[in-house]
Parts: sequence; structure tokens; C-alpha cells
Amino acid sequence: MADRIVDGRRRSDNLILDTALRDFYGAADEMHLDEGLISILSYPERRVDVSVPVEMEDGHVKVFKGYRVQHSTALGPSKGGIRYSADVTGADCEGLAMLMTWKCSLGGIPYGGGKGGICCDPTALTMREKERMSRTFGARIAPIIGRWNDVPAPDMYTGGQEMVWIMDTICKMVGHFEPAMLTGKPVDYWGAKGRTEATGRGLATCGLELMKLKGLDPSKMKIAVQGFGNVGSYTALLLKQAGATIVAISDTTGTYYNPNGINVEKAFEYLDRDAKKRGRKLSGFEKEGCEKLDSVNDALFVDCDFLFPCAVQGVINENSANKVKAKYVIEGANSPTTPEGEIILNDAGKIVVPDFLANAGGVIGSYFEWAQNLQGFSWTEEDYNKRLVSLMAENFNKVWAYAMDKKVTMRRSAYIAAIKRVSDIVALRGVYL
Ligand code: GLU
Repeated sequence: MADRIVDGRRRSDNLILDTALRDFYGAADEMHLDEGLISILSYPERRVDVSVPVEMEDGHVKVFKGYRVQHSTALGPSKGGIRYSADVTGADCEGLAMLMTWKCSLGGIPYGGGKGGICCDPTALTMREKERMSRTFGARIAPIIGRWNDVPAPDMYTGGQEMVWIMDTICKMVGHFEPAMLTGKPVDYWGAKGRTEATGRGLATCGLELMKLKGLDPSKMKIAVQGFGNVGSYTALLLKQAGATIVAISDTTGTYYNPNGINVEKAFEYLDRDAKKRGRKLSGFEKEGCEKLDSVNDALFVDCDFLFPCAVQGVINENSANKVKAKYVIEGANSPTTPEGEIILNDAGKIVVPDFLANAGGVIGSYFEWAQNLQGFSWTEEDYNKRLVSLMAENFNKVWAYAMDKKVTMRRSAYIAAIKRVSDIVALRGVYL
């Protein structure tokens, strides 16, 4: 993917990176941010590309490409997930790492932004292949990982098991145990009670806060959730528990629609059923009284009040945004709306709660896990959830108030707050970070 300079600004052919750059420049210009700071923050501090050779089950060796990017360490160690995906690139990781910088800054937590990934089809790998791949990747990025340097976490198609493989490998290399080097670990192994649901809980909190501000009764709200991975599934469950009607859920097998309400608890049983197989799938869920629509993206266009896009980037774009019926769009995935898509939504009078505000529950929850690990003391789940909800609600309301006051979108408001915290610290510390 090629980088270009347009009017003195960095641009990219990569959709995720270019979206991150354009959103950043838009807000930075509005803030009259110093050009030097703009240039510094347009590039990652460090990007490590690694090869990941894996001995496959049939004995042949396959080499995967892996990446770890640290966009900024201005506020503290870089923080962000590691994704396994067939199309992940270094440029994707650069864009996503930048987004993590803003997410951590806006979230009020002491981290910079990072992201990593391996370009692979995780559903085509056996457990042993995945283990070997995770361990080799861990070994190759080990020099830049650590509790005070860069703290990875799960992301698309990774979870507690992958974190344990990576951590175990790095601990063996450095010769001591260091649980705070990454987060999203299983609860029984230095993880935090509440972390699994944390991103969904944060999204549900944004939805409920928005309903409060708009005087909407949750029990009268119809909600569609696109994507039923960790983020989408808990968002749907928690909103249902708050009284809302979930009218659509979806995954790669299609969209499952019921205007009278989906049985979300039952959908979880489908995931459990398939957890031992490769991939977590809702196939057959139409048997539970739902209409099945063809694609994962059909959930974006059903009749509803609130839409939570929780799958992948770029799905609400210049071709699809005009089909969105929801008045409120709360972004669970990273970058689900392109800048062109957002203009269409804004022009139609819709309110978009941006990804790095709405889905920050994950990384805020990671911060709680890291803090517990450093202290060697675990909190109760109740304590964890209470702190998470209160921080998410506080951040949401701050962004909302600024957006209303300055008559800007929530994304612009969130960007300005996030960039300000980082740029103030860069200015304070000097450019040679
Ligand atoms: N992968 C999640 C995100 O994109 C969590 C990152 C973390 O906990 O470090 O926000």
C-alpha cells in the first residue's frame, strides 16, 4: 500500500490508515494544531514487521507476515490488540494503532496507541498450528513488548488462549514472570473478571446514556447489532437485559431478523455449540423464529432505532450509508464508517457515536486488568463493572457536551479532546520522545 503526500499531508491507499489520517487532519486543523505536531502524529513511532514461520500439520512450513505498530508512547506504554485476519496489513495496523492513541487518550487512561496482527485465515488453522504461530510471533515481537513498553491484547479472532501462548513464550525468553505485559488473559490466569464483556458493556452504556439524553425509554427501542463476535454479542445481551428489543443480529453466516425480538441468550448457545469447531457461527439460528437475510451486512439496513456495527471496517460507506434506517449509530467495530459514509449519515440527521469513544470499554477494561496485575491484587467483578460504566458514561457525556456546545459531530468533538491531551504532552515532553 502506497503512501503519498498531498498538500503536505500524509495520505495512504489503505482505507483504514487513510480514514484515520483524514479524521485526524480534519480535527487538527479545526484546533489550529501546530504543523510540527501534526507531522509527528501522522506517523507511528515504531513499526516492526516480522516473518512467522509455522510448521503446518502436514509437515510443510508456511511463512506468515506479522506486524506490531506503536503509534505513540506520549502518554505511556502503547496499548492495543493483536488481530488474526486474512487481509491484515502493516498499513491497517498503522491506522488502527493511531486510533488506539486517540482511544486511550479520550478514555483518560495512561497509554499510547499500538496495534498488531498476523495475516492469516484463523479459521483454516488447527489449534496446534495457531499455537505455533502465536508463539513464534510472540518471540519475534518480544523485544518491543513489556508492561512499561507496549501491552498487547486480543482483537479480531484472538482471545485469552492466544494471549497466554504469546505471554508464556515471552516470559520464557526474558526469564521471569510478567503478567502485566499483555491483557485479555483468561480470568483464572491473571485476567480480570469483567474483561470479556467490557467492550459490549461500554457500548451498551453509550447507548443507554444517549437514550437518557434524548428522553428515550430503552424498553421501546429497537436495536440491530451487526457482527456477533465478542463485541456484538455482549452488546446485544446487555441491551436486551436493559429492556431493549434486539431486532437483528448477524455474523458471516447471515443476518437473523425478528421485529418482535431475538432470543439473544439462545444465540449464545449457538456460539457455545460451535466454540470447539473452527469459528463461532450462528448457522441454523433461523430455526429460533427469525427471518434469515443473506449477508452479515443486511443487519445494517433493518428497521430499528439504534444500530451497532460491530464487525469490520468500512461497511457504512458512500454506497451503503443511505440505506441505514437507524437514527443512532454507535460504532462497535473500529472504523466501520468511512468519512464519505459519515457525511451521508450526518446529512440525514443521524447521530454517530464514534468507535474510539464507544468501543473504549475494551481497553479501559484492559487498563483495569493491567493495574490489578501490577498490584498483584484482584478486584471484584462488581467493582470492575462499576468503574467501567462510570468512566464510559463520564467520557460519553463530556464528548456529547462539547459537540452540542460547539455544534460539531461527536466524532469531531472526540477527536479534539483526544488530540489535545496527546499534543499537550508531546509539547510538554519535547519532540524527541
Ligand atoms: N482490541 C481492542 C481495541 O481495539 C482492545 C485493545 C486493548 O485492550 O488493548 O480497542
